[in-house]
Amino acid sequence: MRAIRRFTVRASLPEPLAGLRALATNLRWTWHPPTRDLFASMDDELFRRVRDPLRMLLAVDPGRLAQLAADEEFLARARAATEDLDRYLTEERWYQRRASAAEAPAAIGYFSLEFGVHEALPNYSGGLGVLAGDHLKAASDLGVPVIGVGPLYRSGYFRQSLSLDGWQVEHYPVIDPSALPLELLTGPDGEPVLVSVAMPGGRELLAQIWQAQVGRVPLLLLDTDLDANDDDLRRVTDRLYGGDADHRIRQEILAGIGGMRAVRRYCELTGHPQPEVFHTNEGHAGFLGLERAREIIGENGLGFDEVLSAVRAGTVFTTHTPVSAGIDRFPVDLVRHYFFDQRLLPGLEVNRILALGAEDNPGMFNMAHMGLRLAQRANGVSALHGRVTRRMFSRLWPGFDEAEVPITSVTNGVHGPTWVARELTALLARNHVKGAAWTANDDSSMVPSRQGVTDEQLWALRRDLRQKLVAEVRRRVRDAWLQRGASALELSWVDGVFDPDVLTVGFARRVPTYKRLTLMLRDPARLRELLLDERRPIQIVVAGKSHPADEGGKALIQQIVRFVDDPAVRRRIVFLPDYDMSMARYLYRGCDVWLNNPTRPLEACGTSGMKSALNGGLNLSIRDGWWDECYDGSNGWAIPTADGVTDPLRRDELEAAALYDLLAQQVVPLFYDRDAGGVPRGWMSRVWHTLDTLGPRVQASRMVREYVETCYQPAARMVAAASRDGYAGAKSLAEYRKRIDMVWTRVRVLDSELTVEPPHALVVGNEVRVRARIDLAGLRPSDVEIQAVVGRVGDTDDLDDPMSVTMSCTGDGEFGASLRLPHAGSLGYTVRVLPRHPLLATPAELARVVHP
Ligand SMILES: *Cc1c(COP(=O)(O)O)cnc(C)c1O
Repeated sequence: MRAIRRFTVRASLPEPLAGLRALATNLRWTWHPPTRDLFASMDDELFRRVRDPLRMLLAVDPGRLAQLAADEEFLARARAATEDLDRYLTEERWYQRRASAAEAPAAIGYFSLEFGVHEALPNYSGGLGVLAGDHLKAASDLGVPVIGVGPLYRSGYFRQSLSLDGWQVEHYPVIDPSALPLELLTGPDGEPVLVSVAMPGGRELLAQIWQAQVGRVPLLLLDTDLDANDDDLRRVTDRLYGGDADHRIRQEILAGIGGMRAVRRYCELTGHPQPEVFHTNEGHAGFLGLERAREIIGENGLGFDEVLSAVRAGTVFTTHTPVSAGIDRFPVDLVRHYFFDQRLLPGLEVNRILALGAEDNPGMFNMAHMGLRLAQRANGVSALHGRVTRRMFSRLWPGFDEAEVPITSVTNGVHGPTWVARELTALLARNHVKGAAWTANDDSSMVPSRQGVTDEQLWALRRDLRQKLVAEVRRRVRDAWLQRGASALELSWVDGVFDPDVLTVGFARRVPTYKRLTLMLRDPARLRELLLDERRPIQIVVAGKSHPADEGGKALIQQIVRFVDDPAVRRRIVFLPDYDMSMARYLYRGCDVWLNNPTRPLEACGTSGMKSALNGGLNLSIRDGWWDECYDGSNGWAIPTADGVTDPLRRDELEAAALYDLLAQQVVPLFYDRDAGGVPRGWMSRVWHTLDTLGPRVQASRMVREYVETCYQPAARMVAAASRDGYAGAKSLAEYRKRIDMVWTRVRVLDSELTVEPPHALVVGNEVRVRARIDLAGLRPSDVEIQAVVGRVGDTDDLDDPMSVTMSCTGDGEFGASLRLPHAGSLGYTVRVLPRHPLLATPAELARVVHP
């Protein structure tokens, strides 16, 4: 018989144990080992199986519960844990203690289509979701009042297994939200709160709201699987990244518009401050800006342009894709279909909406373009990705150098307390002055101290972590083979898979082409030599899922699987199916070397290598994403890139050869070069250097602090300026933009000159004077910023390394400035006119500039 419907009945806890529920439902346990220990002590064996305090409470034997309810020692520990959680949730933390706390936003809405907090809440596919989870956790640790919002998928992302011939097989297990660490948001009447978004044809899409508590941060997850919805609408939140464009736009409408409505309701019901700033993690949730526009239009009777200024002030857009093909786009007709009758967003004309997503192809609506047009602040996720993104979108800012395109970068980070092995934290914290080295509650206590910790101790710990990985690898290889149809009898060889004393290399990630899963197979003979070396072998663990629609990716997986299935190498190289957070943890902690070989510069950031580095793993990576800015010559290795080579096969061949060479000539010898006590001193010095230099930089707490200081706080200031006095600021900016639009083509630099006194004193550091006459076409001098720009010139007259100073008005249409000559050599200068308004974040914002 099959059940028609599943549900979960909550355990009834004896009164003295009632406090355990709060500890089990707040996901802080995922990064707080003492809480996990408390639950494990209820039934060690059981906890090892369920690994989740909430499921523990459901599964633990009632007799055992009764026993614990009378166990004073256990009750005291439970009380201490509850008090510790209460303190964590209520005390002042970094955000509250900052000097500028008074101007900081009361709350920030963080929108993402996926959140990876823990495998107990399987609502993510990979890096983007895990990053969002880490963002929430770090925000919680720092006391940043973030509210997370996104969909709750009934089947999450797929689970991966392999067929006998190595082809990826996808499964979609259905989750039961009532069995997860989630609470349904209910109103004062006890009924579930529903948000609704209008669908074409007079229909409504309803969603209930599940709330997860990530430390101090609420995470609201929208779920459309309701009887009240039509069948097709019920399926809107069925799975992550499945379905066609129509399915996807419905998910994005729900996430952005429904998500906004969910946040509003949540704050009304709980008294949580309403967010003033909204952060969209990738363009998928970008419709949130339109819902903001609807709110403001409705309440204040403003025009669309005025509203746009107000919305932009409070929106932050983070893009994660360095390739145009990766950007989310919809056919214009599909967007029109959902928005044209204004039922979804009353007061917003569809043509205004379409203009926000306009791109070169008039048939397509571009979510990234809309993201940039609805957000005053936009950023990429590493320094290199910032540069690539500025180039990618530079056509939206004609007349500006790429460096001036107003897209910044905030390099991603990872949540240390989640990803660092607790054994390592304990070893480093033992000698740490401030104790909790990785809790990252303030700026100073971030660097773990190695004082008093010896190479021997750290090396022994690294072996211990490698050993744990080896055990996990064997367990998973065995399960995978059983699943592929092998019988247990044939699998005795699995006990010989991997060796806790062999140099272990990890490679685990999604399998889009650019990540080049199979680069290591480029020269199979060479790889075999490395794996099977008698004295100094390496072992490699590979994992990764391919998007279900990506047959090419699945073929790459099959290629790897066929290679590792060979009895000659299968003890030294494995492919583990079903890469997820539960597996990732073992890999990041146990691997000595973390390999990453994307086609530069297609990796926006990459974060798995950061997690490895925090555990003392050494990165062996193409200089792409975060590694481009963080590699310093001795904290790992950079695989040389064949950047100029356009033939991809040739490029792969060159870069693969460089990879084998590095492994054979540098990595392997360093690892096996031991002193009398068996410790690889040279290796350990790199490990220490990695912990010292990367430890603080790759933290999500560093990333969230940067977002607060460079995005959230300035945005909150702009929101205040735009909205106070009945949106006077937004009106003034809209009126200004209109004026500029009318006259800008007539603004002209009439003439200019550069003078120096005495005439031949063109010497570095000397002062020169630039003067210009400008036809302002009726604009006031205070409406514009006139700049004198000096820079190096080469063969062309393009200014390199330009330096600009603002010129002041010296008379009717006359402007002047003095500046010091910055360099020796060939210099050039120019004069340009830019818009100026107090509500512009940068002079490039309006994409207007006049050159002579
Ligand atoms: C960190 C993480 C990723 C992201 O890794 P990349 O280096 O960005 O490819 C993907 N999946 C899981 C489970 C992770 O923990």
